Amino acid sequence: MQKKYGLPLIETGVIFRDNIKKGTELGNKAKEFIDRGELVPDAITVPMILNRLQEADCKKGWILDGFPRNLAQAEALGEALDKAGMKLDYVIEIILDRAIAKKRIMGRRLCAADNNHPNNIYIDAIKPAVKDGKMVCRVCGCDKLTVRADDQDEAAIDKRHGIYYDRSTGTLAAVDYFKNRSRVLEIDGAPGVKEVSQALLAKLS
Ligand SMILES: [Zn+2]
Repeated sequence: MQKKYGLPLIETGVIFRDNIKKGTELGNKAKEFIDRGELVPDAITVPMILNRLQEADCKKGWILDGFPRNLAQAEALGEALDKAGMKLDYVIEIILDRAIAKKRIMGRRLCAADNNHPNNIYIDAIKPAVKDGKMVCRVCGCDKLTVRADDQDEAAIDKRHGIYYDRSTGTLAAVDYFKNRSRVLEIDGAPGVKEVSQALLAKLS
């Protein structure tokens, strides 16, 4: 989508890093919280995002990724956009059953030869191959497939998903908030990455 429409992908993590590096007022404030291991309050994050969305490369539009994550952030972002006279045209919700979402994280396998070779024991389209009864990378045949420790941290996954799937205050509540303000595109996330991007592009055109 980024390629097709030539829109910049705006990620909050990058915005934080940029503001801290440049030593902006908001960046300095954010750093104090990060250094204490605390979450940066929305009153700092939202203006930072707004500033970024008003930069020259965003004139034709933008794609905001990873924010808002809950209802309070959605409301703060909605109000800030209103004040700036900006509009969020589309919200993209990729619908995936919670149990499947968890399996997909836990099923990820890393190829020792190349981190960019996608392998997942629970996604048919990118299932590792089998050679001499052993699981090998489906791209290069390397027989060293490993797991990332945090992919197997069920408690952490459950905590993250607990926020995402919470329809009263979590990420899904944020989606509902935008239903009255933007067009919410619901995409079935069950098929592979390719099918999901195609379905999304079809809905946008
Ligand atoms: Zn490989």
